[in-house]
Amino acid sequence: MTGNADPRHAGEGTTSRARLDRGRGALGPALELVHTGRAPTRAVLTAELGVTRATAGAVAAELEALGLIRVDARPGAAAGSQGRPSHRLALADEGPVVLAAQVHADGFRAALVGLGGRIVATTPSCEAVDADPAKVLGAAVDAGADLLRRTGRHCVGAGLAVPSAVTEPEGLALNPLHLAWPAGAPVREVFAERVRAAGVSGPAFAANDVNLAALAEHRHGAGRGARDLLCVATGHRGVGGALVLDGRLHTGSSGLALEVGHLTVNPEGRPCHCGSRGCLDVEADPLALLTAAGRDPGPEGSLLQQANELIREEYADPTVRTAVETLVDRLGLGLAGLVNILNPDRIILGGLHRTLLDADSERLHAVVADRGLWGRNDGVPILGCSLDHNSLVGAAELAWQPVLDDPLRALAGGTGNTGAAAGR
Ligand SMILES: [Zn+2]
Repeated sequence: MTGNADPRHAGEGTTSRARLDRGRGALGPALELVHTGRAPTRAVLTAELGVTRATAGAVAAELEALGLIRVDARPGAAAGSQGRPSHRLALADEGPVVLAAQVHADGFRAALVGLGGRIVATTPSCEAVDADPAKVLGAAVDAGADLLRRTGRHCVGAGLAVPSAVTEPEGLALNPLHLAWPAGAPVREVFAERVRAAGVSGPAFAANDVNLAALAEHRHGAGRGARDLLCVATGHRGVGGALVLDGRLHTGSSGLALEVGHLTVNPEGRPCHCGSRGCLDVEADPLALLTAAGRDPGPEGSLLQQANELIREEYADPTVRTAVETLVDRLGLGLAGLVNILNPDRIILGGLHRTLLDADSERLHAVVADRGLWGRNDGVPILGCSLDHNSLVGAAELAWQPVLDDPLRALAGGTGNTGAAAGR
């Protein structure tokens, strides 16, 4: 058999096409490995992707051509898995960015965030939140657009973190209880409109702030490498939770999973805005600590800052120590219930809860272990969140997701999908 009829020839054609397809399919996974710091060299990338050296080389070169990563072939680069020097991979210094915004009870902030969770530029935190979501989101987007103009960076999308459950697929802020926003405010749509109006390119997304904090910590912080990561955190007010399973946020059937703030941890406790009583949300947040310590909230700084400072500066005061113990016990009760239901392999705590962990880690571990099923809970590591502005970085992760899923398509699309605003 000769020429085109030769099956070996046909086979070679198929193989080379298949290699190319595999290479394209590997672009997203390869970018995610470099993005999360898990592929420092081309040799590690090759091993992690399970492809040939040639395919990994082609994939790295393509990501470099897209302006996303840098391939450094200088001698002296770190040794690869075979012990010989391998090309070093790093994120591009001047690559594209996304616009991230966070709204919380005491203000809002905008930032430009690159791959790797790197905050490239940020505005100072603004300290008032208007009752009209469109005004707040408009101001945050305008601040971000101003950063884009000043830095000259190319923007590929926008993400927003809000202190409320956000429904899927509608993108409504269901319970912005600590903002004066109306329940059910269509935050994703409003945000997408403002992004489009400001001339910022790329799709726009919105989600709950603690969900986003957990996602950021899983990719870049204290949650790296965990398989079933539980995150519990106070914002400036209230308490939120999140679960990252196999690298993806578990948000439930309509975005409302892990609303842990309304677990009852003190049946005789104070009334909660949800209609119940003694919820984690009102029993283990910054205001609860100040109240337990007999302190009135002062005018200076957010409640979170005041509560953190009280613990860091006056822990020797027996009243403060007792207040910390009370909150640690309530938090521990809530965590124990969650651990029994979810069986996480790591817990990370943010906001005031991280400070409580730092203050009395032993007591918190003991409360969680005491309430564990079959005496198994004492093995679950409990760590503090480690990123600055993790909700903001998480909002950026939302906007980066289309690029991580399919770099060629997301970047070739340019501004074509502005405002499409699919928020999953
Ligand atoms: Zn409640």
